[in-house]
Amino acid sequence: MSSDLVIVYHRQPYEEVVEDGKTVLRENKSPNGIVPTLKSFFGKVEHGAWVAWKLAEDTSNPGFETVIEIDDAYGRYSVSRLPLSKEQVHEFYHVTSKEAFWPILHSFRERYNYDPVDWPNFREVNWRFAEAAAAEAAEGALVWVHDYNLWLVPGYLRQLRPDVRIAFFHHTPFPSADVFNMLPWRKEIAESLLAADVVGFHIPRYAANFVSVARSLLDVTVEKRARVGAEMLNEGTALNERIVPTLLTHNGREVAISVAPVGVDVAFIEARARDPENRAKVAEIRRDLGGQKLILSVGRTDYTKGGVEQLESYERLLEKNPDLLGKVRLMFVSVSANRGMAAYEAIQGEIEQISGRINGRFGTLDWQPIALISRAIPFADLVAYYGAADVAWITPVADGMNLVAKEFAAARVDGDGVLVLSEFAGAAVELGAAVIANPFSYRSMDEAIRLALAMPAEERRGRMEMLRQAIARYDVHAWGRAVGADMAETPRTGGAMEMPAPVHSAA
Ligand code: UDP
Repeated sequence: MSSDLVIVYHRQPYEEVVEDGKTVLRENKSPNGIVPTLKSFFGKVEHGAWVAWKLAEDTSNPGFETVIEIDDAYGRYSVSRLPLSKEQVHEFYHVTSKEAFWPILHSFRERYNYDPVDWPNFREVNWRFAEAAAAEAAEGALVWVHDYNLWLVPGYLRQLRPDVRIAFFHHTPFPSADVFNMLPWRKEIAESLLAADVVGFHIPRYAANFVSVARSLLDVTVEKRARVGAEMLNEGTALNERIVPTLLTHNGREVAISVAPVGVDVAFIEARARDPENRAKVAEIRRDLGGQKLILSVGRTDYTKGGVEQLESYERLLEKNPDLLGKVRLMFVSVSANRGMAAYEAIQGEIEQISGRINGRFGTLDWQPIALISRAIPFADLVAYYGAADVAWITPVADGMNLVAKEFAAARVDGDGVLVLSEFAGAAVELGAAVIANPFSYRSMDEAIRLALAMPAEERRGRMEMLRQAIARYDVHAWGRAVGADMAETPRTGGAMEMPAPVHSAA
């Protein structure tokens, strides 16, 4: 069926679970994932489509329907499931995307692993995504492609369907030309992105970096620039950018550059935080702490999250401040999402080792300075920990946005709590009221956590109020509206579909 809006995202828009031997599709449990927001765009179009991959033993005979129709709270849409083999997924996702692109996106040159990349496979997988999108798109439809593992889709799609409008959004940082251009496929990737009508980023810095990459490799002219608003400037911090390019021309075509920081579902999190069940949980956690201060650190086990640097800072804190022994606890949640990948296993090992050392050095029978948790905590429980923590300590060395920081502020309906945030998280440009830390500096890291623990109530409350205003300004719905508005302004090459404002389902 022809669709006016086609979303191309590597993950399927639901969870597949087996119940009584039958596969059923269920809404994603996490309310903060981007999936529900993307699906909400289907509400205003006649018919939408979603393109994702699905594991198949035999890709020519996958044993499942490749296109299924869904009619749910979000609207009517089809889901096109590209059958990919285990090897294809491994090469495309775990090797090319995670070993080559991920370190480059986060400016970790030394971790970049080029040798094992199977570029023809990456092209093939991207080509198949483009073909599937082309098959679903109505004349003049809008095709919205997500993230770096689909970098070549806009270029292929433009060849297959010159009539469609193409938008591309990056959910990660975008590095400077000095780093991006380490990729031998740099020109092919930049050319593909410039085949889109809109290329989107979280913050102005990433947009400016992309434009400098494009200009370094191709004949690109910046036609328009805009001054960045005060709400996205955090004076003197690392990711500040004052002027952002908004319109380019390349090969006689216009390409709009869009900036829209993704946010969290503030209303949902607040409602959860106010729920009596949650309040009872918060009270219980605080009771168990018995007057000790709780520092909370939450992230994936990934070298970009700066877990090792943070634990080392905690060790110095305890070393230099013996008065804190027995009075403070660090709940360190580090969830491995990429099992079986050597780089992530090494980080996990280091985290376990340092945590063990700290507990061994300072712990007693009654008190352990660190509670290391390597399992994912269900979101509902996480909201209770957010509510009980004195300090949320979020210090990635590189992070596209960081939703945990925003979720913490959303959960603090009591107006208390201190956020310590790395200036290398995209969220830092919006969250000027956080205590800003530089994870590359011992002094900055150590001072920030000390300051946070000692902060008087009045200052904590003042800062939290400002943080809460900032996260409400760009919540997840505002992100949807901003992206929708930018896409609506794209020059029309073919048919006549106006990008609708997103509809937000209560589901
Ligand atoms: N999260 C969770 N349970 C955990 C740890 C994390 O539900 O134990 C969720 C967290 O609430 C957040 C997401 O995982 O919504 C992490 O998003 P973020 O932008 O902070 O980091 P990413 O993993 O996307 O780099």
